[in-house]
Amino acid sequence: MKQSKVCIVGAGPAGVISALFLAKEGIECTLIDKAIFPRDKICGDGISGWVVSVLCQLDKGLLLKLNSQDFLLPSHGIRLVAPNTKMIDLPFLDTNEISPQVPPGYICKRIDFDNFLVEEAKQKPEINFLEDTEATAYRYTFDKIIIETKSGKEIQSDLIIFANGANSKFMKDPGGIVKNKKWTMAGLKAYYKGVSGMHEKNYVELHFLKNLLPGYFWIFPLPNGEANIGVGLDQYRINKNKINLKQVMYEAIESEPYLKERFKNATQISNIQAYGLPLWDKKRKISGERFMLAGDAASLVDPVTGEGIGHAILSGMFAAKQAIRSMKTGNFSSEFMKQYEIDLYDKIGKELKISRRIPGFIKYPWLFNGVINKAVNSKALQEKLTLAMTDLKIRKKLKNPWLYLKVFLGK
Ligand SMILES: Cc1cc2nc3c(=O)[nH]c(=O)nc-3n(C[C@H](O)[C@H](O)[C@H](O)COP(=O)(O)OP(=O)(O)OC[C@H]3O[C@@H](n4cnc5c(N)ncnc54)[C@H](O)[C@@H]3O)c2cc1C
Repeated sequence: MKQSKVCIVGAGPAGVISALFLAKEGIECTLIDKAIFPRDKICGDGISGWVVSVLCQLDKGLLLKLNSQDFLLPSHGIRLVAPNTKMIDLPFLDTNEISPQVPPGYICKRIDFDNFLVEEAKQKPEINFLEDTEATAYRYTFDKIIIETKSGKEIQSDLIIFANGANSKFMKDPGGIVKNKKWTMAGLKAYYKGVSGMHEKNYVELHFLKNLLPGYFWIFPLPNGEANIGVGLDQYRINKNKINLKQVMYEAIESEPYLKERFKNATQISNIQAYGLPLWDKKRKISGERFMLAGDAASLVDPVTGEGIGHAILSGMFAAKQAIRSMKTGNFSSEFMKQYEIDLYDKIGKELKISRRIPGFIKYPWLFNGVINKAVNSKALQEKLTLAMTDLKIRKKLKNPWLYLKVFLGK
C-alpha cells in the first residue's frame, strides 16, 4: 500500500492548487486523476479575477508565466444582453497591482489552462502525481484514511482532499451533500470560428434569451478567432418545461436576427458537449474527520454567473492551508477541520449568498428588459452595476426587489 501525508483526488483547478500550496510548504502529497493529461473539461473557459489573486499568492512568477502564454485571451469586462436585445457593457474593475500586463480576467480553453497547472505540479518533487488512477472508495483505519482505486492500488494518508468535480461520489459520502435539481445547472458548449462583433477588449457576453431565463446563452471569445458558445439553465426548469438545450442553442444562432448576423460566416469546429454545474445554494458542511471537499465536489459554483474555476481554486488554497495546520498539530478531527469552511466562507460566503437570490429576479423578462433599458441610458446605473461585480455592499442591494422596481419605475 502506498503511504502519503495527504491524498488529493482530482487534478482539476481545485486539486492541483491544493497540491501546489502543500508543495510550497514542503509537504509531500499524492495527487491522483482518472484522466491522462492533457484532458479537456467541458466549460465556458472564462477565468475570473480569483484565479489571478490565488496564483499571485502561490507564486507571482507562475502567474506571470501563465500570463505570457499565447493560449490565453485577456478579458476586460462583461456584456449583458437583455431579452429585448438591449445591451450594456460593464468593465471588470482592475484591482490587481501585480503588473499592468496582468488583466482582470482571461478566457482560455480548459485543456490548456488545466494542463499548464498540471505541468507545474509534475515539476514538484513533493507532488507524486498519478494519472489514469480512479478513486472508487475510501475507508478509515484506526488513525489513517485510505483511498481505493479502480486498478486495486491503495493510498493511505492522514487526510484526503476530494476535488474530483461535479460528479464526485464522495460529495454524498462522506460529504453528506445531496444534489438538488433546482441548484444544478446543465450547460452545453461548442467551439466556433469566425463569430463576428466581439467587443474590442474581449468582453464575455451573456445573452438572456426570453425562453431561457434565468439561464443564458453565452459567447466567450478565444484566441485565433475562435469562441466558446454555450447555453445553461437549471435542471429543474429543463425537466419541467421539457427544454431541449441543444435545440435552444441552435435556434438562437439561426433565428435570433442579431445573433444570426454575427454567426453568418461562423463554423462550428467541435461537437456540442454537456455537463452539470453544481450551484451553491446554502452554507453546508464540506469537511469532516480526515477529509475536505473542494471545488465542484463542494458545490461551490456561483448561482448567477456559473463561475466555478475561481471558487475551485480558492477552496483548493484554503483546503491546503487547513491540511498544513492539521499536519503541524496532528489534529484531523471533524471539529478542527471546520476552520477550512470558516476561512472559505469568510472569503466568498457573502458573495454566494447574494448571488443565490438574484436568479429569483432575473427570471422575469419585463423586469430584466426594464432594468437594462434604464442602464443603457444611465451612466450612473452602469457604474453601480460595474461596482456591484466587485463591491459586496453594492451587490447586496441587487438582491433587494425594490431596487429593480425603483429602477424600472425610473426612481
Ligand atoms: C458547460 C459549463 C460551462 C462552465 N463555464 C465556466 C466558466 O466560464 N467559468 C468558470 O469559472 N466556471 C465555469 N464552469 C464551471 C467549472 O468548469 C468548474 O466549476 C470547475 O472545473 C471546477 O473545478 P474542479 O477542480 O472542482 O473540478 P474539475 O475541473 O471537474 O476537475 C475534477 C478532476 O477530477 C478528476 N476525477 C473525477 N472523478 C475522479 C475519480 N473518481 N478519481 C480520480 N480523479 C477523478 C477528473 O478527471 C478531473 O480532472 C462551467 C461548467 C460547465 C459544465
